[in-house]
Amino acid sequence: NFEGQAPKNWLKINLTPNARVVLEKRYLKQIDGQVIETPEDMIYRVANVIAAIEEEKYGKGEKETRALAKEFYTIMANLEFMPNSPTLMNAGRDLGQLSACFVLPIEDSMEDIFDAIKNAAIIHKSGGGTGFSFSRLRPKNSMVRSTGGVASGPISFMKVFNSATEAVKQGGTRRGANMGILKVDHPDILDFIQCKEDNKEITNFNISVGITEEFMKAVREERDYDLINPHSGEAAGKLSAREVFAKIVDHAWQNGEPGIVFLDRLNESNPTPQLGKIEATNPCGEQPLLPNEACNLGSINLKLMVTEKNGKMVINWERLSHVTRLAVRFLDNVIDANQYPLKIIDEVVKGNRKIGLGVMGFADMLILLQTSYATEEAVDYAEKVMKFIQTEARIESQRLAEERGTFPNYESSIYDGVMKLRNATLTTIAPTGTISMICAASSGVEPLFAVAYTKTVMDGTSLVEVNPLFETFAKEYNFYSPELMRKIAEKGTVLGLPEVPNWVQEIFTTAQETSPEWHIRIQAAFQKYTDNAVSKTINFANSATREDIAEAYRLADELNCKGLTVYRDGSREEQVLSTGTTV
Ligand code: ADP
Repeated sequence: NFEGQAPKNWLKINLTPNARVVLEKRYLKQIDGQVIETPEDMIYRVANVIAAIEEEKYGKGEKETRALAKEFYTIMANLEFMPNSPTLMNAGRDLGQLSACFVLPIEDSMEDIFDAIKNAAIIHKSGGGTGFSFSRLRPKNSMVRSTGGVASGPISFMKVFNSATEAVKQGGTRRGANMGILKVDHPDILDFIQCKEDNKEITNFNISVGITEEFMKAVREERDYDLINPHSGEAAGKLSAREVFAKIVDHAWQNGEPGIVFLDRLNESNPTPQLGKIEATNPCGEQPLLPNEACNLGSINLKLMVTEKNGKMVINWERLSHVTRLAVRFLDNVIDANQYPLKIIDEVVKGNRKIGLGVMGFADMLILLQTSYATEEAVDYAEKVMKFIQTEARIESQRLAEERGTFPNYESSIYDGVMKLRNATLTTIAPTGTISMICAASSGVEPLFAVAYTKTVMDGTSLVEVNPLFETFAKEYNFYSPELMRKIAEKGTVLGLPEVPNWVQEIFTTAQETSPEWHIRIQAAFQKYTDNAVSKTINFANSATREDIAEAYRLADELNCKGLTVYRDGSREEQVLSTGTTV
């Protein structure tokens, strides 16, 4: 029984009013609309359920398990680590579904298509997001032998998936999220690229074109490339690679969709190629998975991994190591504590035991280190931090492998004979849409969104919300005034404000002021040491041209990114799929 209140003498969580609201709306247990759990009770529940696995499954004693629960509790109460939302919401409760990411297969038959729709609905109900490859579906207007009719093609089926998602609002509040991927050599690729042209269509999907090496080569060489009918395996015409590339760019320029995902690169780092190819990712793109695979994520708050040493702010490597080790153990336990929505998912997940440990608060960390986001120095910090986390995570996963065994599909995996690991993947950079709000940290590896902004509250009055680090700096360096804060909220930026010292202007640059090139270079720096992928938005000014977007794609390819999502300011009235921010 994991119900109950956190012991009174355990650490209290220092939450911002915003964080408290987020938790009360969706995460804390309620009976008849009444919240009956404190935030401390919530993490106590989570820590206990996840630690208890060691007693139930790995034969640890009660005392040791209890001590571990307290360690898990502490890193969450400190806001140093947070698992993905489903773990916070569902651990120790009836649903018991703890993963944010799923990929479901869609084979080219009616049964399979509608099975996938049903399974997606079950997953959405539990707070998970689903990704699909539509690449195996025969193109529209192909023959259907059993009926003598013609097939309606991937895009028309995506609309059915979309409607089903629309109907299943998660837990009454959170709408499901999907990723739809179509390979660039599918005959319906042109329809796919424009399927979200009208912003009101297919709103519960992010879409990405699955780019191949062959295609990129054809773009460079200005050649045509072959389309292939997945049903017959035969060539089904040719398209100019340049023209298709230009069309992707044009639509991304218009409203941010489709994104692109480099499929061959995903497969180069597929840890278990013996099990087949990776064809899809979760909704925000950071987690490539095999069909029927799921993954649970967690993120370390880098804002809290900075400390003062001899009067200087430096990275607290010791603490980062401690939190990384505990987080890996926590996430490995989540795999066993999880109640999967389908038996097949349970089997596939437990074969690879993938986990996705990432970070949030990277921009905050840079500010504390007084480093601007758009600099070599920041790229350097990104690489150093992620390399350290990956190394420490592997050390812990190796330790767990010794104690509990390697992941069952270890043999023939890319790690076979290299290092014994408990988990086929360890690191993923998630958007941290909600958990970064809970931790009052900047999201994922993104720059600050704004230094200050105006928020309208229920009674219609407007409040100025100032980035807490900026407020601290302003007070410490004597340029704080409520008028200035209001002025910044109106402008959204501190650039060019004479009241703000130049060096402060430089470290508080926002996403909009960061050039696409630096956005991509930071993404690539994190990707270098991330087993899975990096969720990141590349911001462009409204005046950016199509060629600017094309250039970004080429740079992302050159720097070994696994995919790219672009957004040109003002090109969409509403963000189509906010990443977990729909509280
Ligand atoms: P959180 O901060 O809530 O833990 P993230 O913003 O980091 O979540 O998103 C991580 C993943 O969780 C996404 O890539 C997606 O797979 C899933 N996810 C996010 N928002 C939703 C949603 N509204 N519905 C379903 N899944 C979601």
